[in-house]
Amino acid sequence: MCTHDFAQNDTQVVDQDTKDMLNRRRMIQALAAGGVVSVASPALSGCATNPETGSKQFLLIGDSQLSEMAATSWAEAKAKIPTTTDPRYTTRLKNIGARIAQGANKGSETWDYAVFDQDTKNAFVLPGNRVGFYRGMMDFANTDDQIAAIMGHEVGHVTGKHAAERVSQQLGGQLVVAGGSAIAGSQLAKKCRKNAEAQIGGRGQVPNRELAVIQRNYDRCMTSAQRNTQYLNAALGMGFMIGVVLPYSRKHETQSDLLGAKYMYKAGYNPYEAVKLWEKMAAEGGSRGPEFLSTHPDPMRRAEDLHNYIKYQEQLGSQGWESIDMPEES
Ligand SMILES: [Zn+2]
Repeated sequence: MCTHDFAQNDTQVVDQDTKDMLNRRRMIQALAAGGVVSVASPALSGCATNPETGSKQFLLIGDSQLSEMAATSWAEAKAKIPTTTDPRYTTRLKNIGARIAQGANKGSETWDYAVFDQDTKNAFVLPGNRVGFYRGMMDFANTDDQIAAIMGHEVGHVTGKHAAERVSQQLGGQLVVAGGSAIAGSQLAKKCRKNAEAQIGGRGQVPNRELAVIQRNYDRCMTSAQRNTQYLNAALGMGFMIGVVLPYSRKHETQSDLLGAKYMYKAGYNPYEAVKLWEKMAAEGGSRGPEFLSTHPDPMRRAEDLHNYIKYQEQLGSQGWESIDMPEES
């Protein structure tokens, strides 16, 4: 079982009327098609083991849906923050990105990279394989291996499906869910209309009382559709995504670090350079540390964890580098 800790007041996982309406609609469709009706419980169908991390995740939102919604954030970021076209940055990042994507078995997918022309020491990834580096981060990381360490970390957020998990956790309790996935407001509105039509359609006269019930259900359904639009927009809006970029949990950050080292190794980079990078970052710390620190865990701790992980994977010999398992605490 996967656990998902919805707050107490968020327990209206699905508005019951809407759920009934959607289910009824599907039942009608299925019966018409001579099929079997199966209505999955959202909680169960949203639960899956991530093959990269080995962790169970509660996911209500798919990659393509997230990607579609993140497109606006990405376009806005590129419109608002100046990007550099200097190939010493852009070509370098693209080449490193391609190698790391290959190391993560995602080389055949489309990736989009941007280098923002600011001194900020930060990088982020948005759903849909969109990786943003600030020039300051590339200057600081300096070597290809260390840039690859940051790239690996960002790709780790992608393969770890961290954005989907985060959004699902934060919004799961408020979204209308059908067939185990959150559905966009426009889709839901279409379903509301179709459902009302199906209840009325083909009948010459519908008694007033029945009509009132259909109308009420329709109104409720439309209210939910609007709510879905609002929540999803708010969750994936500019402020939420850029800058702090989905404040990931410590667990997600650690997973990304280890996955990043794994992809570095698979891509032929030296994973120990990731350890060096975080040591360098720790040395920079001080009172006004790099921005990257504010959203990520203690760099010394990260360096240590990475060191232990890499050593352990090396000890495993030919069995190594297949998981993000850490050595047992001694
Ligand atoms: Zn991160």
